[in-house]
Amino acid sequence: MSNKVKRHLIIPIFIPHQGCPHRCIFCQQKTITNLSERLLTPDDIRNTIELAIKSKHLLDKKPREVAFYGGTFTSLPTASMTKMLGAVLPFIERGIIQTIRLSTRPDSLGEDKLDILGSFGVSTVELGVQSMDNRVLLLSNRGHTSLDTINAVRILKKRGFKVGIQLMPGLPGDSKELFMDTIDKVIDLKPAMARLYPTLVIKGTKLAQLYKQGTYNPMGLKDTVDLCKEACIKLENSGIPVIRIGLMSSPSLLKKGEIIAGPWHPSLGFLVRSAIHLERVRPYLSTLGEAKNIILHAPKEEIPLIMGHKRSGIRHIETITGATIKDIIPDDSVPSGEVAFKVL
Ligand code: SF4
Repeated sequence: MSNKVKRHLIIPIFIPHQGCPHRCIFCQQKTITNLSERLLTPDDIRNTIELAIKSKHLLDKKPREVAFYGGTFTSLPTASMTKMLGAVLPFIERGIIQTIRLSTRPDSLGEDKLDILGSFGVSTVELGVQSMDNRVLLLSNRGHTSLDTINAVRILKKRGFKVGIQLMPGLPGDSKELFMDTIDKVIDLKPAMARLYPTLVIKGTKLAQLYKQGTYNPMGLKDTVDLCKEACIKLENSGIPVIRIGLMSSPSLLKKGEIIAGPWHPSLGFLVRSAIHLERVRPYLSTLGEAKNIILHAPKEEIPLIMGHKRSGIRHIETITGATIKDIIPDDSVPSGEVAFKVL
């Protein structure tokens, strides 16, 4: 099954913490988004879109979508929602923007709010689900339960919205087993897509206090890559593409001392994708026998995944095969997800 997601242009508009009923213990949107928490005006939104579409390179991409991230969009007052969505509408009418997506909480989807989303052309709603374990949700001060998520997905689908689910492995009280149980429950909900944001300890959060008190231990990077790999394989084998793994690097997030602890890596998604790919090609390598030196052949676009971060993939293959890889040849006659080799 191909899990490739069609690339399109997303113009993100961040609304840090706007509409949030309280602060979840891990969350610091100001650091993540590099923006203050002031309420955006329609002019801010228009300017962001104008700036994005000025680039000819971006205008080549289609469909183009405006995305409101970083807060609880559907908990904003109705007038604010209408103003923000109304600022995008002229771009939709002129054919510059095709759709809108936004993120929100599973317990903030009143019928009146959904009417507004529908009338302004919102196509996708991403839910900050984080976990399907009620104890994990409670310990993170989420303020909703897994039942809220089940109901939210049902109501959104009934109204014809595409649903995305955002998950956070490694929250307080979570474990590998509990997270994979969350994955099974998410698969049952059949969302259109998922994102994985492994938990980081960010300065100024309640989680940072718990970490300093020694009552919270974040996951290590290797365990995080392994867990995200398992989760991705399961989700994507069930037809649910994982469209993002790990937080985006923003200047404020990367400022020294902002990430206090946790499995931060600027290319976490690549580490996970490379680990998945190496697992896929492993059966082809098991036929190598006693070969000492080999040349690998692989589809051109999959070579970076085989090489891995700082050649870690090469080292991994050499360890499991006992052979030295002398070269990797781009070869699109090799089927996707496979490797061929020549023994020297
Ligand atoms: S996780 Fe979501 S709901 Fe919680 S504070 Fe952050 S933006 Fe608001």
